[in-house]
Amino acid sequence: MQKLVLASSNAKKLKELAALLAPLGIEVLPQDAFGVPEAEEPHVTFVENALAKARHAARHTGLPALADDSGLCVAALGGAPGVYSARYAGEPKSDARNNETLLAALANVTDRRAHFVSTLVLVRHADDPQPLIAEGEWHGEILREYRGEGGFGYDPLFFDPESGVASAELPPEVKNQRSHRGKAMAALIARLRAEADRS
Ligand code: IMP
Repeated sequence: MQKLVLASSNAKKLKELAALLAPLGIEVLPQDAFGVPEAEEPHVTFVENALAKARHAARHTGLPALADDSGLCVAALGGAPGVYSARYAGEPKSDARNNETLLAALANVTDRRAHFVSTLVLVRHADDPQPLIAEGEWHGEILREYRGEGGFGYDPLFFDPESGVASAELPPEVKNQRSHRGKAMAALIARLRAEADRS
């Protein structure tokens, strides 16, 4: 089985990815298992940050590495909070304060359109000249009041027009299918399958 390092210490992401990649003969290992120090994320785009994290993990472990970067982009805010989504309200990072900041920023705004983005980057080695890149988007609207108890981050404020509920009201397996991350993962797996078929 081929080994792949996940450049994240998020146990939920590891479990989800491990299940998706096992049928392709890929074993996903957390970067913590190799003592990889936290990578810098200094960039202004999701793809650059994901690439920096994947490269960092590959450099430290000598193994192929996968990283993801994600966030919420609000149309009326010119794409903010974007790559700063996790720390929109500053340090220490807090979902509750981020959501309050978002509600305040949109208090008098009628255009509520927003989308989540997830960018996945896989490098076969630290200097891979052609990383595999997959992106997923989930389009919706920012609510004026919190709805639902599930999920994390901006989920209680993100209305999914297709299902007619907030993201925090969706059962996890439904959210995983509809979400930016689910779509990015499906795209990445299609790319990996195509690569495997060619070799
Ligand atoms: P990260 O890529 O896991 O660091 O996530 C960046 C930030 O984007 C999170 O801290 C959340 O604030 C936001 N975010 C990303 N994906 C989601 C989601 O599925 N639901 C709600 N918030 C999200």
